[in-house]
Amino acid sequence: MKSEKWEANVRKIVPYVPGEQPDSPNMIKLNTNECPYPPAPGVQAAIAAMQSQDLRLYPDPGAEVLVKGLADYYGVKKEQVFVGVGSDDVLSMAFLTFFNGDKPILFPDVTYSFYDVWAELYRIPYETCALDENFRIRPQDYKRPNGGVIFPNPNAPTGVYEPLALVEEIIKANRDVVVIVDEAYIDFGGESALPLIQKYDNLLVVQTFSKSRAMAGMRIGFAMGSEKLIKYLNDAKFSFNSYTMNRPTLALGIEALKDKAYFEEITARIVATRERVKGELRELGFTFPDSLTNFIFASHERIPAEQIFRALREREIYVRHWDKPRISNFLRITVGTDEEMDTLLSFLREYIQRGEKTC
Ligand SMILES: *Cc1c(COP(=O)(O)O)cnc(C)c1O
Repeated sequence: MKSEKWEANVRKIVPYVPGEQPDSPNMIKLNTNECPYPPAPGVQAAIAAMQSQDLRLYPDPGAEVLVKGLADYYGVKKEQVFVGVGSDDVLSMAFLTFFNGDKPILFPDVTYSFYDVWAELYRIPYETCALDENFRIRPQDYKRPNGGVIFPNPNAPTGVYEPLALVEEIIKANRDVVVIVDEAYIDFGGESALPLIQKYDNLLVVQTFSKSRAMAGMRIGFAMGSEKLIKYLNDAKFSFNSYTMNRPTLALGIEALKDKAYFEEITARIVATRERVKGELRELGFTFPDSLTNFIFASHERIPAEQIFRALREREIYVRHWDKPRISNFLRITVGTDEEMDTLLSFLREYIQRGEKTC
């Protein structure tokens, strides 16, 4: 297509591509790391109690009820909590606020594919650091001049968790920039870096309600860090959109947070299913880095990932596959209910056996 003159002044960006959201009654959806269980029962009750009349008024711009709830839950001050429309919104705001230098920011080569998109959008220089052959972070890569550091722990899409000692080693080596640890999957077995925010005023820990709290559709993310970091984030947010959190979000988010027992029950159930599925996938000839998340990043010893991906898709079982360097032979499989995983496993068992007969 011919470029018009005015297009020279347009901010152009190759956008992030989210996993597809098909809507079919028979599908098994294991492609975007959603929780297979419903949100806490109190959320349903709060929906029933909602009055459309309340929507007439703007929500609280400070999202106080949720900020205070999170502060109490995690044992920090409310001045140490920032909330946003999913952690994508929180992370995007953090990129804009904290990565404003001339030196490149650093993140792993295999990681959440939104990071390079935000860096491009905000024109932040960046360099990626190659994970080792087991998809582990090499801390020495982060000991050089840079404009900031970000990595998920556990990492996505690999599922690999790095011990807190490694996280702290990276923070210690980067006291002159902001370090962001994206803990979207921390509730599935890892140890959070949250206690370190009291020691390092340049550390921002980001989490979300989308995975472990079963509320991807509600869009709630949050960050915790020093009062200074949070103030800078709020200054940017209030210069952008004062009302990021709407009234239903605030009302339902706080309900989800209240029910700790339910949260612990569903995360434990997902972890138990994950551990069982690991064993069964191994028996079928899959290998994968050990996962401490709600997904498994698996590669088959003989059959190319893309071929399995297509076969699953035809059967309406959706998983995620990327045609990208280093990871094109892997499938990222979200841990669903036991029943969903059994359907997946029996399909794979039959598919792999059939392949063995024909080749
Ligand atoms: C899912 C995910 C997010 C974003 O989740 P939200 O739904 O926007 O809260 C952020 N980082 C990683 C690594 C993720 O996997």
